[in-house]
Amino acid sequence: MEIKKNQIYTMKIDDIGEDGEGIGKIDGYTLFVKDALIGDEIEVKVIKTKKSYGYGRLQRIIKPSPYRVEPRCEHAGVCGGCQLQHSDYDEQLRYKENKIRNLLERVGKLKDFKMLPIIGMEEPYYYRNKAQFPVGMSKDGRVIAGFYAKRTHSIIDIKHCCIQAPVNEVIIEVVKNWMQENGVLPYDEGKHEGLVRHILTRVGKRTGEIMVCLVINGTRLPAGDDLVARLLSIEGMTSISFNVNRAKSNIILGDEVVSLYGPGYITDYIGKVKFQISPLSFYQVNPGQTEVLYGKVLEFAGLSKDKVVWDLYCGIGTISLFLAEKAKFVYGVEIVPQAIEDAKVNAGINGIENAAFFVGKAEEVLPRMYAEEGACADVIVVDPPRKGCDEELLDCMVRMAPERIVYVSCNPGTLARDLKVLEEKGYGVKKVQGVDMFGQCTHVETVVLLSR
Ligand code: SAH
Repeated sequence: MEIKKNQIYTMKIDDIGEDGEGIGKIDGYTLFVKDALIGDEIEVKVIKTKKSYGYGRLQRIIKPSPYRVEPRCEHAGVCGGCQLQHSDYDEQLRYKENKIRNLLERVGKLKDFKMLPIIGMEEPYYYRNKAQFPVGMSKDGRVIAGFYAKRTHSIIDIKHCCIQAPVNEVIIEVVKNWMQENGVLPYDEGKHEGLVRHILTRVGKRTGEIMVCLVINGTRLPAGDDLVARLLSIEGMTSISFNVNRAKSNIILGDEVVSLYGPGYITDYIGKVKFQISPLSFYQVNPGQTEVLYGKVLEFAGLSKDKVVWDLYCGIGTISLFLAEKAKFVYGVEIVPQAIEDAKVNAGINGIENAAFFVGKAEEVLPRMYAEEGACADVIVVDPPRKGCDEELLDCMVRMAPERIVYVSCNPGTLARDLKVLEEKGYGVKKVQGVDMFGQCTHVETVVLLSR
């Protein structure tokens, strides 16, 4: 049978792709269908055909998958934030574990590695401590804020989000009213006009401290005093600021932050360690699971008081300081200067003296420290952004010959690629642990232990 565009077919979904889309076959021809789940029997409209596969749009569910649940959020399916709300949480975890395993086998060419059962969240809702809401204008001239609809830049005006800290709803309302009543215009991406681009919020889950930072297309904020007065009615409000971003681009934050109220940061704890977090610094978005993740890093690192650790891509020093108590010395390397300033302050406020931090690219700093200062390591931890590690860095790590390498990754695809390189250079993968930090979403975090 020839599968034709715009025709309607019935099919069963029996697999799930890397972005959470359902996969099934009609007469041997593979079709990818967004929002369909393993076990669903569906009616599908073919919207795009290629030689050996195509894409379909879910028209009707004939028989629902046993894993299908009613999404909690009214915007599920439209909003680009979550992809898996229609799936039972255990099935989400199975999907993530399989995704890691498949990529390590297929891309990493790894065999016989020990895959530990993925660690899920106790409560996979309302877990995020950070949000960046785009701000815009509705057709009838109201200020709106929320999230982008899937694969677009049109803003959905969100009242309630099931994965964010609930206080964000109040913050959004306050900022929208302040804009409306003071005639402050939202930014218009198409025309590169208007002022307020994003509302960035952060919440210290353990401390209750709240940060609000408005990202603006300008260098001055009108009616700033009124904004501060309104936001201070929210309990826990600790830091209010604006960030200057006049660029014509998708990048959310600019380099400059101007404080309007408070110290310019909020504090939170991971385990016993206290952290100061400023608007521009990276900080894990799921504080509960961060402790679980770092606990695994600590376990895999196998530390004792005579071990020297390098923590590469260290952000504000979270992993470094979490490990310092158990190690002889920890060195952190990070590319964002402000994050390194925070890391040093964080070491200070916790009285940690056996840690030092360097600004720069890990792939430049580590080779330089190794060649010029004779840097050595018993354990190297890496936690790179989605694009993974530079090959020069992997090379230098191997030359330093640590007993263990602990690789923390937010992207199993680049993780698999880098593990293949490390295996070829003599480091074997001993354990692989998935940790779910992103319930309802397709992302998954992985921790891997390698040794020589
Ligand atoms: N380990 C930290 C941060 C991990 S996120 C934590 O768990 O909180 C990755 C970090 O790598 C970010 O802080 C980012 O700024 C930094 N980064 C990106 N490219 C880098 C590079 N080439 N060298 C060093 N750090 C880099």
